[in-house]
Amino acid sequence: MNISADKAAEHACKDDFPGNLFVVAAPSGAGKSSLVRSLLARDAAIRLSVSYTTRAPRGQEIDGRDYCFISRADFEQRIAAGEFIEWAEVHGNLYGTSRAWLEQRMADGVDVMLEIDWQGAEQVKARFANAVSVFILPPSYAELEARLVHRGEDSAEVIARRLLQARVETPHAASFDFIIVNHEINHALRDLEAVVAAQRLRYAAQRRAHPEVFTALGIV
Ligand code: 5GP
Repeated sequence: MNISADKAAEHACKDDFPGNLFVVAAPSGAGKSSLVRSLLARDAAIRLSVSYTTRAPRGQEIDGRDYCFISRADFEQRIAAGEFIEWAEVHGNLYGTSRAWLEQRMADGVDVMLEIDWQGAEQVKARFANAVSVFILPPSYAELEARLVHRGEDSAEVIARRLLQARVETPHAASFDFIIVNHEINHALRDLEAVVAAQRLRYAAQRRAHPEVFTALGIV
């Protein structure tokens, strides 16, 4: 893509798009994945982007469902080819969101959710002015530690690293549109559903969803 075409594409991306883009970030252990999974189970209209990563699959993870697992060399080639709408290094591994997948869903007017880290969320917000960003907070660092220990997935060393990382990530909540404190999953889920519902009730979204009503009522 030449520079002027790239600029035109960037400009187009800043414009309104026929669908809603939700970006959810959180420190490890705050309950983000469970929350997003619960939301998607209750709201079939939202599609979750499957990220690319250089980290190895964990436990029951399946390639193409949980992540597209690729080598660092492959990832770096894709960066050079502009295949990621955003990407970041997290805990020593590379993670990125497919530009082609996202742009196609947006063109189709589908609601999309990205479950990514704060660095990626900031890139998406800079690129898509209408994206809605949500940061999930744990009630405290002590509770975060208790949850990571209780989860039983990580060694003491990994937990210590995640907790240190959480102290770096959490202050970035300040640049997000919405904050959900995950004291209790069902309450946090209701909060997340409220964010989705509010976004769908915005003027532009309602106008797209009900063009006949707006026309009949003479609203421009
Ligand atoms: P995990 O390896 O535990 O699945 O994910 C580590 C972190 O990387 C999480 O905060 C997760 O949300 C984030 N992540 C997953 N996919 C992406 C992505 O495509 N882009 C960015 N920037 N972060 C991602």
